[in-house]
Amino acid sequence: MKITIIGSGLLGLSTGYHLAQEGHQITIVERRKDSALETSFANGGLLTPSLCEPWNAPGVLFDLLKWIGREDAPLLLRPKALPSLFLWGLSFLRSSTRRRYEENIFRNFRLAKYNLAVLEEMASNIPLSELGGGAGVGTIKLCRQMEELDEVHKMAEFLSPENICFKTLDKNEIFALEPALKPLGDKVAGGSYFPEDRFGDAHQFCAELTKYLINNGVQFLFNTNVINMKKKGDHVCEIDTEQGSLSADTFIIAAGSYSTIIADTVGVKIPVKPCKGYSLTLEPDGWTGAPKIPVIDQSLHAAVTPLGPKIRVAGTAEFTGYDVSLHEDRLQNLYNLLGSIFPESRPYINHETTKKWSGLRPVSASGVPIISQTEIKNLYLNTGHGQIGWTTAAASGKALSDLICQKEAGINISDYSLPK
Ligand SMILES: Cc1cc2nc3c(=O)[nH]c(=O)nc-3n(C[C@H](O)[C@H](O)[C@H](O)COP(=O)(O)OP(=O)(O)OC[C@H]3O[C@@H](n4cnc5c(N)ncnc54)[C@H](O)[C@@H]3O)c2cc1C
Repeated sequence: MKITIIGSGLLGLSTGYHLAQEGHQITIVERRKDSALETSFANGGLLTPSLCEPWNAPGVLFDLLKWIGREDAPLLLRPKALPSLFLWGLSFLRSSTRRRYEENIFRNFRLAKYNLAVLEEMASNIPLSELGGGAGVGTIKLCRQMEELDEVHKMAEFLSPENICFKTLDKNEIFALEPALKPLGDKVAGGSYFPEDRFGDAHQFCAELTKYLINNGVQFLFNTNVINMKKKGDHVCEIDTEQGSLSADTFIIAAGSYSTIIADTVGVKIPVKPCKGYSLTLEPDGWTGAPKIPVIDQSLHAAVTPLGPKIRVAGTAEFTGYDVSLHEDRLQNLYNLLGSIFPESRPYINHETTKKWSGLRPVSASGVPIISQTEIKNLYLNTGHGQIGWTTAAASGKALSDLICQKEAGINISDYSLPK
């Protein structure tokens, strides 16, 4: 079958890989000059089944109102984005009942756990250094307050029936595991260690996967912006790009936050909105005590991930439409977070050489990725992965490939259907 995939980020590439393995003829259409130059470029680097909760926890409305106008808020709503968020926002809030929230945690967790198995299979087949030698295992969730510690433990216990692996740590055990945290001393209440979590550079993974796919017959059309899709009867017959039209038997939209705009051209509505996040990538030359394990600070809502000689600090979430401009106060916020988690990093932070980045998480209203056929039979979606796109990309690609190829899936695919 001739299959065209729109988008060459984590989701488009992973879907392309699995469908190519099934013998299909794949074309990946990407508006940028290469793969993974948008949201999959400089994310937090975490593949964390342990961190799969959707953002719409019970009480999220109260939190959002409380955080309005606070530049250091973990989830910030900009007033200019409010009109575009109205319908999606209602659905986001509807998913924040205790029952739905808990069901959705399980959906995300199962996908993330399945992801580890799929990645292993991929790594045995193709040379992906970022899944092998270059990447690492384990994450620490660090808690500064006893209430946070209780929450982390409750969540881990809640996921126990799904066999989450975790170890509760007191502060001395944390310092033994990650000595770079020692200077925090009594500020630490405790935490947890998740040995199954992984970390690695998503952009490098995408670069290596692209190379492999090109060498294995997948066609890439870079610098090709998709303008719209065309429907004939009950199927999509072609897509219009700035370079001309393309036909295929099956089309997949994996264009991150822009999936909604493309799908809209054939009347398919996807409940996904962009949520901006920032990252800093530093090379702290001379800092011999730099961390070796990613640390997620529960109080500060930030993650610090070692990626070889680099340190990635990621965090902040802000609904501000499709704006990816960098704001000094949000960047400063990340520098402050790094200094608060690793006080010894301060002398080694060089603002000039630090790479500053922002990207748009494609956040679905339910907080669960959409891996689905649409009401148009030959049009499929792989989007809405929000803050867990790296954590679930490989499994999402495999799941969509199995759905299209009508093979038995490793997960219950109906859990990820486009809501009617
Ligand atoms: C600050 C931050 C930190 C994060 N940290 C983590 C983390 O630690 N762990 C984790 O699991 N996830 C994390 N994420 C989320 C993760 O990065 C995303 O979920 C994931 O990258 C989404 O991948 P994607 O393929 O859907 O989108 P993208 O990577 O954006 O890919 C979509 C592609 O489609 C292309 N495209 C769009 N429109 C068109 C068009 N009209 N024509 C042609 N091409 C088009 C784009 O150019 C782009 O290349 C983070 C996100 C952010 C912003």
